[in-house]
Amino acid sequence: MSDHQSFRPALSRRGLLKGLGAGVLLAGAGYGAAHADTEIGGCDALVIGAGFAGITAARELRARGLNPRILEARSRIGGRTWTDTFAGVPVEMGGEAVDEKQPNVWREVQRYGIPLGTTLPAERLYMPQEFGVYDALPAAEVGPRLSQLFTPFFSGSQDMFPRPYEPLYRSDLVVPADSKSFRTRLDELGLTTAERLWVSGSFSGLAGGDSSRGAYTMLMQSWALSGHNFQGYLSVNTYHPTNGTQALLRAMLADARADVRFNSPVVSIEQTSSRVRVTTRGGQVYTAPVVVLAVPVNVWRNISFSPGLPAAYPQISTQGIGAPNVQKLWLLIEDDQGQFATQPPEGTVLGAVRPHTRTPEGLVMFGFGYDPNINFNDRAIVEQHLRRVVPNVRVKAVKTHNWATDPYALGGWSVRRPGQLAGPFPQVQQPRGRITFAGSDLANGWSGYIDGAIESGATAARQAAAVVGTPALAGVR
Ligand SMILES: Cc1cc2nc3c(=O)[nH]c(=O)nc-3n(C[C@H](O)[C@H](O)[C@H](O)COP(=O)(O)OP(=O)(O)OC[C@H]3O[C@@H](n4cnc5c(N)ncnc54)[C@H](O)[C@@H]3O)c2cc1C
Repeated sequence: MSDHQSFRPALSRRGLLKGLGAGVLLAGAGYGAAHADTEIGGCDALVIGAGFAGITAARELRARGLNPRILEARSRIGGRTWTDTFAGVPVEMGGEAVDEKQPNVWREVQRYGIPLGTTLPAERLYMPQEFGVYDALPAAEVGPRLSQLFTPFFSGSQDMFPRPYEPLYRSDLVVPADSKSFRTRLDELGLTTAERLWVSGSFSGLAGGDSSRGAYTMLMQSWALSGHNFQGYLSVNTYHPTNGTQALLRAMLADARADVRFNSPVVSIEQTSSRVRVTTRGGQVYTAPVVVLAVPVNVWRNISFSPGLPAAYPQISTQGIGAPNVQKLWLLIEDDQGQFATQPPEGTVLGAVRPHTRTPEGLVMFGFGYDPNINFNDRAIVEQHLRRVVPNVRVKAVKTHNWATDPYALGGWSVRRPGQLAGPFPQVQQPRGRITFAGSDLANGWSGYIDGAIESGATAARQAAAVVGTPALAGVR
């Protein structure tokens, strides 16, 4: 469908401005757009961002008979998923695990026949004791104890999230609880020092190393999505696409049949009554009747919007919605220690480390670092930190990516902060005029996961299709 054929003005200028809301704030201008002489049309919808959310949106738009074009800042697809290689094997520098409890990603895995593998199980776990000492315990012993310690944290989840995909369904219970952080909730449980050491690292790790940054309601919702039990919660990270997340993305993108423009970071988005003009850092101007903005929420603050967006948008972007400072590390370990894992407490520079794959060169493990001042690409530094937990371990090679300093992510996976669900979150999920918003950060269900990106991409595509003209919108023209 050509741009000319598809264009049908869906909103009057008055309606558009009303949709944008009064008292708008202009998000900070980004990278400084160059002036453009020509405008590039020829599509029905511009999708900004080629992560799982953007690619889903493009495919869903195509399925509705619309012709999408994708503008992607990087030279690759995938965003916070990124299949790379390390020690001769494919590895994921970002998101990786998928699960049958996650309906959106599971459906895609089945639809495209994506083969799944599992990571190596840990045979023993290094669990923290007081005074920086660790005990190496059989995994079979640790699991039941952790279940006992975790479960009380989530008591009341059935009442708070009886419909896990509608996070505010019981707003009477969720809103008052939303100001609590993971840490506040842990404080309430009255754990002994030893018990707290065992569980604090799991919670702080999810929030990027600081348990005060994650909203208690976010974890309660994850527990509800996992079936309200420890086994379900623990098993969410079981499977990964054997040929990498890129294999799934490429299959979805093929069905989108979208024109993808790489190396096209968007710096400004301007809406008129009939069009959206999108300018890239290189000065190209693209136009379309509607835009799906599928970049991380934290990146919104570097895009200039005209008219400006209501205050909730710049507010949540500036505050940040993800786990900051996340670095996923890959380690090649001399394979003389068996299949071990570590679970350090909150405040430890190097977070949990887990076995992944065995190769002739050694054991490939992955872990997480949360201190932005540590160079986790330095093998000796990583070995030094790991030896505080596992004496004599030998790290042969490391590889990492710092998502916090990545300008097109500005953080790791999404974790809502205390107060965000009860505050700006539901507002920033809403379309504004001819812009619809997509991303795992905005998902109703598995926010912070690939599944949430797919859910949100499909929702935004539906909203975008409505903007360019469906019978439901006919009355407002
Ligand atoms: C270290 C790490 C581990 C994770 N582990 C898991 C896991 O095991 N399982 C799981 O389900 N999830 C995991 N996640 C989360 C998961 O990866 C994300 O939730 C999901 O990939 C987000 O998809 P998205 O499309 O919403 O955003 P993104 O993947 O971030 O896509 C946004 C796209 O927008 C582009 N972009 C940004 N700015 C601009 C701009 N100005 N102009 C144009 N394009 C722009 C970006 O380059 C990117 O391609 C992990 C994330 C991280 C960081």
